[in-house]
Amino acid sequence: MKIQHSKQLQQYNSFRTKAVARLFCEPQSVDELTEVLKSFPHENILILGAGNNMFFTKDFDGLIIKPEMNEINIISEDENFAEIEAGAAVEWDNFVERCVSKGYSGLENLSLIPGSVGASPIQNIGAYGSEVKDTITLVKTVDIKTGEQKIFTNDECRFGYRDSIFKQTRRYIITSVIFRLSKSFTYVEKYIDLSRELKGNLSPSLTQVRKAIIAIRTRKLPDVNKLPNAGSFFKNPILTKDEKEALQNKIIDVPIYNIGENSFKTSAAFLIEKAGFKGKTNGKVGTYQNHALVVINLGTEDGKDILNFAQEIINEVDKQFGIKLEPEVWIF
Ligand SMILES: Cc1cc2nc3c(=O)[nH]c(=O)nc-3n(C[C@H](O)[C@H](O)[C@H](O)COP(=O)(O)OP(=O)(O)OC[C@H]3O[C@@H](n4cnc5c(N)ncnc54)[C@H](O)[C@@H]3O)c2cc1C
Repeated sequence: MKIQHSKQLQQYNSFRTKAVARLFCEPQSVDELTEVLKSFPHENILILGAGNNMFFTKDFDGLIIKPEMNEINIISEDENFAEIEAGAAVEWDNFVERCVSKGYSGLENLSLIPGSVGASPIQNIGAYGSEVKDTITLVKTVDIKTGEQKIFTNDECRFGYRDSIFKQTRRYIITSVIFRLSKSFTYVEKYIDLSRELKGNLSPSLTQVRKAIIAIRTRKLPDVNKLPNAGSFFKNPILTKDEKEALQNKIIDVPIYNIGENSFKTSAAFLIEKAGFKGKTNGKVGTYQNHALVVINLGTEDGKDILNFAQEIINEVDKQFGIKLEPEVWIF
């Protein structure tokens, strides 16, 4: 496998910021991956998927590994379910489209999320009331420290809201993911916008649901190829009961979702908009006019400009509402 030196990363992150990796490689198989780990035992290692949830503020002094396992295999199937293994590099939305076209349900609400299959468990991607954790049975990985293969069951992945053991430890390279998808489909309303888009159709087909999700997302989110961005820049804040009440005292109509005992979620987009940042720009960075949570790059190649703008938002939301927003995006 070829090891590239001084690799420019601008085309490998959806914010299109410039940075150079000292070393870069694209292993096509688990064997190639373990080989490269053996050859560079002391390197600082970073794993890259399709780069839609990360950007660079400086050069990377180490080895970037971009897994290139591309296979999709049905590993078991009965009347009700299909178990499918997809390689880390498989493009997420191609995979969703394939599953929907075969009548396998479970992933349709996650249509059009940009990225790779390998990154999907990292932050437990979610949208429109669904999270990928509900379809994953196993995650196959290689341990960066030992070079050994390790398979995680769903429980062992310790999935949470935009979270998993992979995100917490950054120790495992995901090589493939195994999904268990249902061969039957009954639409259950999880998200009011989606039901509206379906225009009163109470029993839509899988394809109709996918189409509706694509229509909503296309309206709401900027196209990364035209307006570089990384989707939601911040996580929705999780609040205790006291924090929730303090926030409600400041903003009467703040949206609050009960997500467990003494645990509530509010909308980062709402807070950013309320703080006056929706559609606001500063130099070559701004937030998207249709969605305050999406930070957009209007022409800078320097990730520090994006970081500074994000910090402005964090400071202002904290000053006005006492809530500290945390980035969902990985910043290097
Ligand atoms: C327009 C837009 C809309 C978006 N909408 C959503 C949404 O609705 N819901 C949502 O959850 N996310 C959303 N995102 C974020 C993003 O699409 C997801 O996080 C996606 O999973 C990123 O995939 P990627 O392959 O680009 O990962 P990358 O950005 O390359 O990597 C993300 C993280 O995962 C790690 N990683 C990647 N691949 C592997 C691997 N094989 N093994 C170990 N670690 C790995 C990286 O080191 C990094 O820390 C959106 C992004 C954009 C640009």
